[in-house]
Amino acid sequence: MNLILLGAPGAGKGTQAEVICDHLNIPAISTGNIIREALKNGTELGLKAKSYMDSGALVPDEVVIDIIKERLSKDDCQNGFILDGFPRTVPQAEALDAMGVKIDKVIDIEVADEKIMKRLSGRRVCQECGASYHIDYKPSKVEGKCDKCNGETVLRKDDHPDTIKERLEVYHEQTEPLKDYYAKTGKLTIVEGQEEVKDTTALTLKALEA
Ligand code: ADP
Ligand code: ZN
Repeated sequence: MNLILLGAPGAGKGTQAEVICDHLNIPAISTGNIIREALKNGTELGLKAKSYMDSGALVPDEVVIDIIKERLSKDDCQNGFILDGFPRTVPQAEALDAMGVKIDKVIDIEVADEKIMKRLSGRRVCQECGASYHIDYKPSKVEGKCDKCNGETVLRKDDHPDTIKERLEVYHEQTEPLKDYYAKTGKLTIVEGQEEVKDTTALTLKALEA
């Protein structure tokens, strides 16, 4: 199954992507994680992306389209994949179509902006493996340490309140039109993000079966 997860930054796409990854045994592909990894390793891609990302802007379409092209060509995508954070603009969605990638389902996770502000400022992300936590809703077992790899969990630079506001603006302007784009193909299912992760998860799994 080829899936896309849509939603505002902080809507919980990453968490749901992990759930689906375990459930269907297909890889979850996060362009954000790929870019952060490149940044950490100081690659050319990382250098190109840094200023955009830090300010809450989107990285240019051609850069992320290249990332996705390369990633989807790997063997582990043969039986399907989950895209988390791509596409984020209409031209990115068009590029995916142009690559001949068939999408089975698009799940859009809806969460109000005010909730997102609160969620993202409490989010902590593992510097090593990218796993994501929340100080109130999903704390790691040991504060500041990743459950999975024992790496250090930190507040992302772009999770500071001013940058969150900017990212939400960018979302409404550039990413939200994708709801229409995929509604027109009949592939879109909307999931209302819940207070508790497990409740959202139940809705996501139901959406997969529908
Ligand atoms: P979130 O969903 O929490 O905003 P991501 O980790 O998906 O976080 O993305 C973080 C940042 O990485 C974005 O703000 C943007 O700068 C960049 N990025 C990730 N995916 C894309 C994309 N598909 N197009 C453009 N920029 C992207
Ligand atoms: Zn980790």
